[in-house]
Amino acid sequence: MRLTVIGTGYLGAVHAACMADIGHDVLGVDTDTRKIEALAAGRAPFFEPGLPEILTRNTEDGRLRFTSSLQEAADFGDLHFVCVGTPQRPDSLAADLRHVEAVVDGLVPLLTRDSLIVGKSTVPVGTTRALSRRVAARLRPGVDAEVAWNPEFLREGYAVQDTLRPDRLVVGVTSPRADQLLRAVYDSMLRAGVAYVSTDPATAELVKVAANSFLATKISFINAMAEVCDASGADVVTLADALGHDVRIGRRFLSAGLGFGGGCLPKDIRAFLARAEELQVGEAVSFLRQVDRINHRQRRRTVDLARHLLGGAFAGRRVAVLGATFKPDSDDVRDSPALAVTAEIVAEGADVSVHDPEGLDNARAALSGPTYCTDVMEACRDADVVLHLTEWRRYRELDPVKLAEVVRAPRLLDARNALDPAAWRVAGWHVRALGRPAHVPQPGPGDALRVTIPQAFGPDCTAPTPRDPLSGAPK
Ligand code: NAD
Repeated sequence: MRLTVIGTGYLGAVHAACMADIGHDVLGVDTDTRKIEALAAGRAPFFEPGLPEILTRNTEDGRLRFTSSLQEAADFGDLHFVCVGTPQRPDSLAADLRHVEAVVDGLVPLLTRDSLIVGKSTVPVGTTRALSRRVAARLRPGVDAEVAWNPEFLREGYAVQDTLRPDRLVVGVTSPRADQLLRAVYDSMLRAGVAYVSTDPATAELVKVAANSFLATKISFINAMAEVCDASGADVVTLADALGHDVRIGRRFLSAGLGFGGGCLPKDIRAFLARAEELQVGEAVSFLRQVDRINHRQRRRTVDLARHLLGGAFAGRRVAVLGATFKPDSDDVRDSPALAVTAEIVAEGADVSVHDPEGLDNARAALSGPTYCTDVMEACRDADVVLHLTEWRRYRELDPVKLAEVVRAPRLLDARNALDPAAWRVAGWHVRALGRPAHVPQPGPGDALRVTIPQAFGPDCTAPTPRDPLSGAPK
């Protein structure tokens, strides 16, 4: 089939490359000419494992091309995927649909044959219906175009495999013809047994925002439990493990820590709140406000705990930050919790060095102030505290003994509960994490930790108890 993919960012570039890889002729379209030049040369404009290989393979084979011309797209494709951004509006919680509308306004008057426009961007429920009216008003006489919605569930870092082997395909259509066309697009996946849910557009739109809302709620639920653990001396990791054994609950998305960020979850739950209010059912999803608040509290709690580890102030102290991206295996720093924490610590006067395996360029563009380091040891040199903010595999493989040799004070805040605290403690580190009991170091001269300890982080900190270095249990 001859497909276009309009908007070639994290979603669209991967979708275009994967559609070519399963045998379609694909034209990717974007207004960002630098992105188009990179993609056309077979270069991925962002970090995504596996993308460079399929980009190169399919651009070289001639099945995948890129352009910034909507005229070329209209001439080329029978089916047009819309993958442009739907960010939060600057003045409200709602989604900003201006890019989606710009595609429709630009493309539809250029169509000279019947076409299917398939939205993949995440949009508020009711968007397909509104866009259908917009399309109808812009079509040339004698030309027909239908709008369908086919939400995308890919995870950055696994985007290629999620696109080629999705858990499910969801399509929202208003005619058997649209359904047949989409079945033909995904034929190889359907033959491989991928679940295919064909429904009305409103349900399809809602599947995506409901899925993201559920995932966000699960994360904020365990982070709320972490706060209770901090106040009561319980351990949120053991709690999550025990909860996760219940098959009705499951362990995934139940890791307490710094919370969620990125270009999707935060803005999607806010857009859902805004749309629900427009539909007069705001009360039904008002819990999402709490989900958002709990999520943001983790950033403040992380800053507070880091400050506390430094004895009450950041000014003049050296802080090493491990991780800048919103999640591992991506270079995406949009609404990154790690960068939000870093920005706050910089604002409070710390001398901050940031390491990230892939996100340094984006982080540098988003936040000035810290020193950005390509080497972990360099980032940690002379640090008064090390903050683990994004759970890259590389950080789990660090040797805490070697790292202890370059820092000024071996203090670690594992804000992702992803490092092995026992191994770090054995190597001499004072380790703290959100929702886990404090390990208290032996008191020493000038150890400010003993003086200013907020109650929220455990009364045991104020009266240091000798502990077993392996288990952290009182001796
Ligand atoms: P992005 O910002 O990386 O990409 C959007 C692209 O659209 C950019 O390259 C931009 O230049 C382009 N664009 C904007 N206006 C355009 C226009 N008029 N014509 C052509 N191109 C235009 O965003 P993204 O992360 O790829 O997200 C896109 C959509 O997909 C959003 O609705 C998002 O919620 C959804 N989504 C994203 C992911 C993800 O993991 N990133 C997963 C599922 C769904």
